[in-house]
Amino acid sequence: MEGIVIQTKKRKSDEANDHIKHNQPYKKIKFTSPLSDKTDDENNNNNNEFNAGPIGFTWDSQNYSCSYDALFTILFNIWSETPINFHARLARRNTFIAKLEEQFQNIKNKICTPEAARNSIRPLIHNYNSNNFPWGRIGVNMVNLSDLFFQNNRTVAFKNSKCTACTFEKSDMIKSYLFKQIYQFEGTTTQKWFTFITSDNPSPEICNNCNQNLMSYTNFSKVPPVIALDIYAQKTSISHKLTFKIWDDVKVLKLAGIIYLGDGHFTARIIDQNKNVWWHDGMKTYNRCEPEENLKNINAQKLKFLDRKKACLAIYSACTK
Ligand SMILES: [Zn+2]
Repeated sequence: MEGIVIQTKKRKSDEANDHIKHNQPYKKIKFTSPLSDKTDDENNNNNNEFNAGPIGFTWDSQNYSCSYDALFTILFNIWSETPINFHARLARRNTFIAKLEEQFQNIKNKICTPEAARNSIRPLIHNYNSNNFPWGRIGVNMVNLSDLFFQNNRTVAFKNSKCTACTFEKSDMIKSYLFKQIYQFEGTTTQKWFTFITSDNPSPEICNNCNQNLMSYTNFSKVPPVIALDIYAQKTSISHKLTFKIWDDVKVLKLAGIIYLGDGHFTARIIDQNKNVWWHDGMKTYNRCEPEENLKNINAQKLKFLDRKKACLAIYSACTK
């Protein structure tokens, strides 16, 4: 995996903003957030904001934004539930998510709309890789996008491998919270898959010395703030939590969001800290999320789909209480 090296100076981001203003005008969208429609007195009432549910991002029909809308809606909710943890554990280690956090703060302080916040991040992403993150009416691959936000400049885990025939051993650094499903796992759950990754299992790699099979397991030294599992290729049910061990301690990550793909459009489910489930579609719910049920009423099998769209990314969080 290539490292991310991008400029973080203020001037760069101003240039990026100029670029978008002059060359890529965004369609002006009426800000329909429950936050902006209230008076200042009402805005100061946190209970009202909370009852309105998570904030969403309105879809941009000129420069398709649904992949950003789905991912940012989930990350914004994780951030708004634990902003300090989010900074300490995620944003400080990744330039893209640090920029996103700045914008989340702007949304919270009502300095800008969710769409303006999103639109100020997109030029950075486009400039980083214009092929993967184009302008216009073109979709974006969710693995490519989420990879940017879940990469870390530090090692988050080690993948330890050992030959089944000789003494060969190696340890590879993992610098991303995003895991891609590479095995056939029909009918499994995200919990079973994560247990497979973190337990000794047959590796697709072979030994450099004797060409025999390797066994490997992934070892986290501390609880990851988030884990994102790419599950689009498989029929994987989505467990409500991920349980795993660090040495002998049992650790738990809670389901925070799921991204769905169907007909070339991304939507999302958001699970808040009270386990209320919300859904977001930038074309239909705009700046809002619509309430569903409590998570306990939606089983792992049912979470695979949302309105005939198929789950492609499950995001678990340790940040929430
Ligand atoms: Zn060997």
